[in-house]
Amino acid sequence: MTISEAATPLAQITAAIARAAKLAQRRDPVTLIAVSKTQGTGAIAPLIAEGQRSFGENRVQEAAAKWPGLRDGNPDIRLHLIGQLQSNKADEAVALFDAIHSVDRLSLITALARAMDKAGRRPDCFVQVNIGDEPQKGGVATADLAGLLGHARAAALPVAGLMCLPPAGVEPAPYFALLAKFAADHGLDGLSMGMSGDFETAVTLGATHVRVGTALFGARH
Ligand SMILES: *Cc1c(COP(=O)(O)O)cnc(C)c1O
Repeated sequence: MTISEAATPLAQITAAIARAAKLAQRRDPVTLIAVSKTQGTGAIAPLIAEGQRSFGENRVQEAAAKWPGLRDGNPDIRLHLIGQLQSNKADEAVALFDAIHSVDRLSLITALARAMDKAGRRPDCFVQVNIGDEPQKGGVATADLAGLLGHARAAALPVAGLMCLPPAGVEPAPYFALLAKFAADHGLDGLSMGMSGDFETAVTLGATHVRVGTALFGARH
């Protein structure tokens, strides 16, 4: 078997990210977040053994059930919350996660700021932008982004960058480019964008964090 035939999904995706970063002449690091929502510990443990350290979950409850055990003996694991967060779960999210990618409204900013003060712990925050301005989609409307960032800064949230989920079924590149422009306009370095189908495009357009699930784990259960 050649090396490429033997390569695991994690090795292949890591290599694809490196290729895309090189193509775009990037020197800053790109973090691969392995999106382990719905996956059991049996599927996650081999990735940890292979060296993967950043993981993404959609639900506070599910992460709270799965991760304390998986984290045992792996204190360098970083957990990212990538799904919508209810304000009443802010305390739990701040205790469990190292980064929160779904900050999208003032009430949540207020709840997170209070939770962080209480816990003395300050996970990195990404402001989620509804980059296609789609009705019923999470994220702050593009027109309201500047105002929400002002609130986040006033509340002393550690804002690391912006996050988006582009509209389904259309070419994502223009949306990734727009998110990158918004981040630059606001002096933010972090760009959480790109999933299994489009992470290479996202990396060429500046993603600092790609969120990859099915390409790593196979279909969700
Ligand atoms: C599930 C999910 C992902 C991963 O999607 P895949 O297509 O499985 O890679 C990324 N980001 C968010 C916000 C998700 O909910």
